[in-house]
Amino acid sequence: MSPEHPPEPRYLTSLDAGYETRFEAEVVSVPPGGVVLSESLFYPTGGGQPCDQGTLRLPNGSTVDVVDVGHQGGATLHRLARKGASSVQRGMRVVGEINWPRRHAHMRSHTAQHLLSALAYRRFGLRTEKAQVSAKGGQFDLERPLPEGALEALGKEANEEFFTRHVPVRVSFVTREEFEKIPNRSGTGKLPPGVDRVRLITIGEADLAPCGGTHLRDTIEVRPVQLAPALLLPLGGVRVSFSLAPEGPSGPGDGASATPPA
Ligand SMILES: [Zn+2]
Repeated sequence: MSPEHPPEPRYLTSLDAGYETRFEAEVVSVPPGGVVLSESLFYPTGGGQPCDQGTLRLPNGSTVDVVDVGHQGGATLHRLARKGASSVQRGMRVVGEINWPRRHAHMRSHTAQHLLSALAYRRFGLRTEKAQVSAKGGQFDLERPLPEGALEALGKEANEEFFTRHVPVRVSFVTREEFEKIPNRSGTGKLPPGVDRVRLITIGEADLAPCGGTHLRDTIEVRPVQLAPALLLPLGGVRVSFSLAPEGPSGPGDGASATPPA
């Protein structure tokens, strides 16, 4: 393992690993503005999804907040809060802890956006050109306006058939060539040039899209979303926004995993 190129984060190859919030690592370098770890479960900002936040626990028991996570070269750079940052030294063993409510909300928003974009394409032939999610919800830009009543139909189908039911989400990898040959892929996510190994996220039979973000493993955890009226964009498309139901203690038997497995 090259210290400058830590291993691929586990959450990319396993959706279950997206529910892990704690990991041990070694500090491999302390470049200006942050630290690089031998491995990390912190998701760096990218693909329309904000980064994770959390803490690093140091050998003396103190913690330093991770306030921002980004890419630097091939590495994940963890930017630390000023308080305690100077205690972090190269070679130190640390325990990273992800802020779970934030991570889980991003997973919910991201999975919701995939499904809504997929339904817009499958039901109305409209491709998503851009998407952005947050801990409160998300938005995606469709190439053209939706027909009359379509937004309500989308929301109804998404909420009734997916966000309140168990529909499995899966991850797989294909080559770019294999990806280009898939006939039934959703009209979302343009493949950047140079990507040869494509990470695919599928939601039941409804969605198949290339993506590098963090997602739920079951759509029931999204819970019903609220769609806002579509906003007309200057170039002729529309922006669809949705908000998540507030995160709260999940009721027994509702299937919503508000806490990660221990
Ligand atoms: Zn995604």
